[in-house]
Amino acid sequence: MPACGSGRIAKIGYGLPFFTDEQKREIASGELVLGGCCIDDSLATRLCHACGHRWRRFDGKPGPAY
Ligand SMILES: [Zn+2]
Repeated sequence: MPACGSGRIAKIGYGLPFFTDEQKREIASGELVLGGCCIDDSLATRLCHACGHRWRRFDGKPGPAY
């Protein structure tokens, strides 16, 4: 979770986007941010819109979304 406690959290997508209708909607609404095709060392998967903090979520496990 972001330290600031903001609820404005976006997913960060890596690689070439497919730009499905759902992705377009998520990008427009701020739910999805494209991280580019070059994956950085931190491999952050979540972004806080409020403070810009990025962190990594380990996907594939049950539990909260972040
Ligand atoms: Zn934040």
